[in-house]
Amino acid sequence: MMRPDLHLHTTASDGIYDARQLARLVQRANVTMFSVTDHDTLAALPEASDAAYDRGLAFLPGVEISTEGDDEIHILGYGVRPDDEVLLSCFRSAAEDRQRRIMGMADKLKDMGMSLPMKEIVSRAGAENSLGRPHLARAMMEQGYVDSVQQAFEQYLGKGRPAYLPRATMTASQAVSLLRERGAVPVLAHPGLIHWPLEKLLPMLKVWQEAGLKGIEVYHPANQGNYPYWERIARQRGLLVTGGSDFHDGTSSHGQIGETAGLWPHACDDAWALYRAVNKNQKP
Ligand SMILES: [Zn+2]
Ligand SMILES: [Zn+2]
Repeated sequence: MMRPDLHLHTTASDGIYDARQLARLVQRANVTMFSVTDHDTLAALPEASDAAYDRGLAFLPGVEISTEGDDEIHILGYGVRPDDEVLLSCFRSAAEDRQRRIMGMADKLKDMGMSLPMKEIVSRAGAENSLGRPHLARAMMEQGYVDSVQQAFEQYLGKGRPAYLPRATMTASQAVSLLRERGAVPVLAHPGLIHWPLEKLLPMLKVWQEAGLKGIEVYHPANQGNYPYWERIARQRGLLVTGGSDFHDGTSSHGQIGETAGLWPHACDDAWALYRAVNKNQKP
């Protein structure tokens, strides 16, 4: 019996376990097929693939592309190649943009009289290009400018607030086309997390499908309570049904490894359908 978890993060993005540690946890959770889908990076894939092989686990190389600013429209790509130069250069420029944006937001805060120890913040984050708004929010709290991370977002860092700067990310359609062009299978991640109303999201689904979208991540913790709804939407439109825990660190804000596999009635058939799609799409 196949127990898939097709959405997992490592230290290459914002997870806390490296690929080898993750593979061990995957096996301990009785998951038999897994995918590493770090945000905008392919760095963990070779090690994850080796670790899967060593443990006799089925593995699908993946990625999760952030699109459309801060609306949580993420596109998963399955069957990406870790040495794909086109994808790598896209992710490099996204990282540079992320860095420019956070430094720009820090400048705006400074103009408002809130100066933050950026050198220290960067060294704690590991690198400038891995900085995100949560790093700024935590530093603001430590400096006593706000009482909580939430307050930092609500008053300064959130969309439309005075220190906010937009991200120059690609649109979801562009991410879908890019993945298709590179021989990968694009899947819409966690529709339950997307900030758009359904009246906007459902028509866009059609647009993305025309661009090459092949599936919906139905079995994600954020869709809990709405699994039948999203499964129906996917099957009606001829889209693959996928699922994963979005495991980062085992805390409550994301799922636990394997947690969605038990809730996913056709996990085995659906995961194999994705596997076949990946093999069909791979460029020679
Ligand atoms: Zn996501
Ligand atoms: Zn994720």
